[in-house]
Amino acid sequence: MAPDTLGHTANRALKRGRMFLNTPGPTNVPPRVQSAMHRDTMDLNDPEFLDAAVECFEGLKRVFRTDGEVFSYISNGHGAWEAALVNVLAPGDVALVPETGHFSNSWSDMAKALGIEVQTVPGDWRRAHDPEKIGQALADDRAHRIKAVLLVQTDTATGTTTDVKAVRAAMNRAGHPALLVVDTIASLGTIDFRMDEWGVDVTVSASQKGLMMVPGMGFVAANDKAIAVHKATVRDRRYWDWTPRMSGHGYRTFCGTAPQIHIFGLREGLATLFEEGLERVFERHRVLAEATWKAVDVWAGAGAVEINALVPAERSLGVTTIITGEGIDANRIREICRDEMMAGIGGGLGAFGGRAFRIGHMGDMNAPMLYACLGAVEATLAYLDVPHTPGGVTAAVRHVADYKKTHGPTTF
Ligand SMILES: *Cc1c(COP(=O)(O)O)cnc(C)c1O
Repeated sequence: MAPDTLGHTANRALKRGRMFLNTPGPTNVPPRVQSAMHRDTMDLNDPEFLDAAVECFEGLKRVFRTDGEVFSYISNGHGAWEAALVNVLAPGDVALVPETGHFSNSWSDMAKALGIEVQTVPGDWRRAHDPEKIGQALADDRAHRIKAVLLVQTDTATGTTTDVKAVRAAMNRAGHPALLVVDTIASLGTIDFRMDEWGVDVTVSASQKGLMMVPGMGFVAANDKAIAVHKATVRDRRYWDWTPRMSGHGYRTFCGTAPQIHIFGLREGLATLFEEGLERVFERHRVLAEATWKAVDVWAGAGAVEINALVPAERSLGVTTIITGEGIDANRIREICRDEMMAGIGGGLGAFGGRAFRIGHMGDMNAPMLYACLGAVEATLAYLDVPHTPGGVTAAVRHVADYKKTHGPTTF
């Protein structure tokens, strides 16, 4: 069907009802957050806004679990990546990047573009990264040239989660002074993360995945050690610079006009998370992830699709990456699922381009929203004659029912 001027196919205009969103970012935004954003702009220094901003910074410290500094940028995750890099690494400095998948590769490319020398610890895209290999790379660096380890907690391309606490333990065993800089863009608000307790020096995140918010805000948290490294790191930077943002002056905190309306949305999004309780939020993500794996394992019976992450304990609880066999066009699955079956899912990234699709089950998600997506995917597999064993949705439904039977009332 010929696309219209917006690039939509004509029959899309006939669609009725709700479009389901199961991309691993952006994610669904609760109606109460949308309502909180439906308001007038205001004076830059209106106390109501300044109070909301203070609440956001306090809420972010609670989700990062840190007493360190938190910086907020009008950006996406890429902006937050750059903010972390330019504040603690100067051109010529060395960063160690454990390869977890497309996102560690992209962050590494950004570091190189900023003049940072990158040393990669090769990884297997079907596994979480091995903390011992990271420790070994640091132990081998006797001259302590490596200034920072850039670690992605959940690589959204591969659907694996690396054990951040174990990476810190390996760094300590190697007795290496490098900073631990962690990308939690896809994991914050979906699984446990404890910046201070785990010894993370810099944490990077963004608004649109686990935090119940629209895209447009990037966050970086830094502890005292990172702030000290920042002060000693001389390089060109302006918008991202931490120092003026620490002045306590509203206008400088945001390096100009604040994203006022986003701040009101974020405050509501964080309140949503705290009302449910982070522990229950994480448990909800676990059960929805497991239900997704049950469905994919059924479909996998015919040998054409399978879960990428081989070891269940290493799987992301926010996104499941499904790899497709020879001759199956994963991009087509994604397109049909969105344009015909009305559920948006993610495509394969980097080396997985055209060979994988991804089901997001993070953020404002409950069981029926997940069933809708799994049903749309199963319908897509049938529509495209992709070999699969039917009954994936039933397996997911059964998993949730069994969970509720044994655990009593839940938040999803
Ligand atoms: C989404 C994502 C990014 C990129 O974030 P953008 O907001 O798209 O720039 C980086 N890292 C991880 C792990 C992600 O999931």
